[in-house]
Amino acid sequence: MKKAVVCGAGGFIGSHLVTRLRREGYWVRGVDLKFPEYSATSAHDFIRGDLRDPLICREVFDQPFDQVYQLAADMGGAGYVFTGLNDADIMHNSSLINLNVLEACQRRNLGHIFYSSSACMYPEHNQLDPSNPNCAEESAYPADPDSEYGWEKLFSERIYLAFGRNYGMQVRIARFHNIFGPDGTWTGGKEKAPAAICRKVAEAADGGTIEIWGDGEQTRSFLYIDECLEGVRRLMDSDWTGPVNIGSEEMVTINQLAKMAMTIAGKTLSLKHIPGPLGVRGRNSDNRLIRQKLNWAPSQPLEEGLARTYAWIAGQVAEPQR
Ligand code: NAD
Repeated sequence: MKKAVVCGAGGFIGSHLVTRLRREGYWVRGVDLKFPEYSATSAHDFIRGDLRDPLICREVFDQPFDQVYQLAADMGGAGYVFTGLNDADIMHNSSLINLNVLEACQRRNLGHIFYSSSACMYPEHNQLDPSNPNCAEESAYPADPDSEYGWEKLFSERIYLAFGRNYGMQVRIARFHNIFGPDGTWTGGKEKAPAAICRKVAEAADGGTIEIWGDGEQTRSFLYIDECLEGVRRLMDSDWTGPVNIGSEEMVTINQLAKMAMTIAGKTLSLKHIPGPLGVRGRNSDNRLIRQKLNWAPSQPLEEGLARTYAWIAGQVAEPQR
């Protein structure tokens, strides 16, 4: 039986990844500060611990593992990442996690490791035109991310690549573009646009109003969790180090995303545009490299994943204890 460690197994993507690896027959150890919030973990073994602590990292990597997936990070949606209020924590916490995990893996000779970077590392100057952003992998340099979160991701990509070169580790790096789906954070300030919009639509009475940050004409693409995991597993099984985009190429404005959620909910709502943290003006995944290297790219329409996510969030909103 192959063995894997998932760091960040209490989080949104990590908890789904644990389930997927188990389904594939892996023995899985999960690690996180917390258990998954919305469903029980399917990990065989779960260590609740702080990966900023090198001793915890040594405890986690105390035996041979075939694969390591590093998804733990101090992160959240625009309300957490783009206000500037959490910059020091984001940079300090996530850098320490990545440094410690790499060091512990290298001590144990654990050679096959996945790192989750983000599209937030792309330079701001290539994402000013909402209808024509450039997020091709080779456009990363000269670097100019618009957030400290993006700078940390870029820095950590480089540490993973350096460990790969100097210690013969098989590093695999994906740059995720807005992953969403059920069991993701949907309230409390760390939620991202699809979950926040689904929640607002679910909470609003038909004919009411929901608030949207900015003019809503900023563009993004959103990838459903199942396709994200398919990409991660294919990348791990390939011989391509990356970094490679794992994202959807179906670009929409935030206003269009809100209208899609309303259609799914069967509600007619007005949009009220208010000031708020926004991030770059336009962003879309560029899937030419993933198609070339993995012979695969995500293809599911946004509406399908959004319908499943809306149904789950509407259920959460309806729960009386919440
Ligand atoms: P998440 O916040 O749900 O999961 C991250 C997990 O890391 C959390 O459960 C958190 O408790 C854990 N963690 C944080 N600090 C820790 C520490 N010191 N020790 C142990 N665990 C710690 O986020 P997610 O959406 O599942 O994202 C997973 C990874 O993918 C992150 O690295 C994130 O930056 C990256 N990413 C996600 C998206 C997205 O759209 N969700 C986009 C780009 C990149």
